[in-house]
This record gives sequence, structure tokens and C-alpha cells, in this order.
Amino acid sequence: MSECLFCRIGSGQIPAKVVLQDDELLAFEDVNPQAPVHVLVIPKRHMEGLNETKPGDKALLGHLFEAAIQVAEKKGIAESGYRVVANTGRNGGQSVFHLHLHVLGGRQMAWPPG
Ligand code: AMP
Repeated sequence: MSECLFCRIGSGQIPAKVVLQDDELLAFEDVNPQAPVHVLVIPKRHMEGLNETKPGDKALLGHLFEAAIQVAEKKGIAESGYRVVANTGRNGGQSVFHLHLHVLGGRQMAWPPG
């Protein structure tokens, strides 16, 4: 069994509040939301983060962003606006080392981010 938390969520071994999914990806509610809408989009296939993606992953990366847009539409924040973030590495604030996009919205976002 994989030790990776998001691999286990992606395969259904650990329950999550699913927003949408297909063969390649899963979108689910963040357990510790930082905004009224906070959804994570993950590839089901394990990859640590952006730095570990390969040229052959271009289509998958595009697919993850398309899913983020669908999440925003489904959660009703597409018009008001939202933020898509991929925290990467130590300084980027990544804590789970399985690539994921955060989709955040439902409130005014600050800039610069902390
Ligand atoms: P990051 O810090 O960018 O790696 O983001 C990891 C995110 O995963 C955080 O926002 C956590 O709240 C979230 N998280 C951790 N465990 C779970 C879980 N079991 N279900 C849903 N979200 C989780």
C-alpha cells in the first residue's frame, strides 16, 4: 500500500469529499480550508510536485488546470474570482509531496501572499 496520503485519497483508500473526478485526477475539499471554497486537484498518478513533472506530463498539467476551472464553476466562484496555487518545495510552503493545485475563493484574496 502506498504511504503517500494523496495517493491513498486518489485511490479511495482514505475518504474525501469529492468535488469531481475522472480516470486521471481527483478534486476534493481541503480538510483545513483557508477560504469559503478550498478544493485540491490532484493527479491520481504519483508525482511529488511541479519540479518532478516531465515533458510528457504537459497534457496532464493542462488537464489539472481545466479541472480547476470546472471546480470554480461548480462551486460558484468563477465569476467572482478565485486563486489557483501550486505550493512547491520548502520555501513554497508545500507540506504534502504529491502534486496538487489549491483552488481558493469565496472571499477577497490578499496580495502579496504570506
Ligand atoms: P500544501 O501545504 O500546499 O502541500 O497543501 C496540502 C494541503 O492538504 C493542506 O491545505 C491541507 O489542509 C490538506 N490536507 C492534508 N490532509 C488532508 C486530507 N486528509 N484531506 C483533505 N485535505 C488534506
